[in-house]
Amino acid sequence: MIKKRMLMIVLGLLLITGCSSSNEPANELKAEAKTETAAAKTKQKQKSLPNVKILATGGTIAGADKSKTSTTNYRAGAVGVDALIEAVPEMQDIANISGEQIANIGSQNMTNETLLKLSKRANELLASDDVDGIVVTHGTDTLEETAYFLNLVIKSDKPIVVVGSMRPSTAIGADGPSNLYNAVKVAASKEAKGKGTLVVLNDRIASARYVTKTNTTTPDTFKSEEMGNIGVIAEDIYIFNEITKKHTKETDFDISKIDKLPQVDIIYGYQSDGRYLFDAAQKAGAKGIVFAGSGNGSISDAAKKGAIAAVEKGMAVVRSSRTKNGVVTPSQELEKKKLLASNSLNPEKSRILLMLALTKTNDPAKIQKYFNEY
Ligand code: ASP
Repeated sequence: MIKKRMLMIVLGLLLITGCSSSNEPANELKAEAKTETAAAKTKQKQKSLPNVKILATGGTIAGADKSKTSTTNYRAGAVGVDALIEAVPEMQDIANISGEQIANIGSQNMTNETLLKLSKRANELLASDDVDGIVVTHGTDTLEETAYFLNLVIKSDKPIVVVGSMRPSTAIGADGPSNLYNAVKVAASKEAKGKGTLVVLNDRIASARYVTKTNTTTPDTFKSEEMGNIGVIAEDIYIFNEITKKHTKETDFDISKIDKLPQVDIIYGYQSDGRYLFDAAQKAGAKGIVFAGSGNGSISDAAKKGAIAAVEKGMAVVRSSRTKNGVVTPSQELEKKKLLASNSLNPEKSRILLMLALTKTNDPAKIQKYFNEY
C-alpha cells in the first residue's frame, strides 16, 4: 500500500516536472526529430544526385576588389574554392559538390607544369566511381588553351567543363555565380557525356576545340565563330551540335608518365618581319614553332628562311593564322619544305597540340596527321 502511494507520488512529480519545465525539452526533442528526418531526406536526395568536383585554378571568377564598380582593376585568384562553392548554395540542389584548389593564379600565369598537374588530377578523379563530372574554374585569358589541352588528354567520357567569368566576384552584376551554376548543371548532366571538354560562360556551351576569347572585357567574349556552339542553357540544357574532331578517350596522347612538355613557341607574322625570332627560339631550346601567319598562314620570304632553317635543325614548324578564323590550307611549296598547316586551330591551340604531338613523334607527316584529326 505504502509502496503504491510512493509510486503515485513519484509519477505525479515526474508529470509535474515535465509540465513545469514549460515543454521545452519535449519541443526540443520533437524539433530534433524533425531535423533528423529532414537531414535523412537530404542525405537520401543527395545520394541520388551526381557528384561534381570543382577544381579551382583562380582567374577573375575568383577575383575580388574593395569596390563593387571595379571590373578591370581587381586581383584575380583572390578567393578560394570553398568561398566559390559557398557563394552559390543552389548548386547543392543539382549535385553533390566538393572542391579542390589546384592553383590560384591569373591564367596569364598558367604554366605547362600546372596544366599537367590539373590534367593528371582530373584523370585520377574521373577514373573513380565517386566522381560523375568535373568543373574547372579558370581565368578567361588562356582558358581556351587549358580547355583544349584537357580535350586532348582526358581519358574519360564523363563531363568536364571549364568555366570562368569576366567580372570579379565583388562586382555589381558579377557573372561568376551564374556561370558556375550553369557549369555544374552541365557537368552533372547526361547530355554532356562524351562531348569532350566543354566551356560554359554566358549561357553558352561550347566545345574546347572551337571556342575562343574574342573581346578583352565584355561578358559575351567567348565565341565559336564559324563552327558554332554545342548548345545553350536556358534553365534546361539544349544541345544542338556535335564535335567532329577526335577528343578525350579517342586521342593518342597519354600524359600519365610525362613530367615536362616540349617547349613550343609562337612567332607572330607582320610586315617587315625576319628570321631572327626563329633563331632565338631555337637557341632558347624550342622543339617546335607555331607561326601565326597573315591570312591563310602566309609567311614572308625573310621569315620563311628562319622557318626552313628551324626545320633543318629538327624542329617542327606549323603555320597557323593571326586571322583567327578559317582553315590554314596545306601549301604544296611549303609542304615540300616540311612547313605544316594548322587546319582550323588558332596559334595558341596549335601550340597545345604541337607540344602533345612532339611527345609522340618528330615525323612531320605524322604531326600533320594530328593537325588534320584533332
Ligand atoms: N586575367 C584574368 C585571368 O585570365 C582574366 C579573367 O579571368 O577573366 O585570370
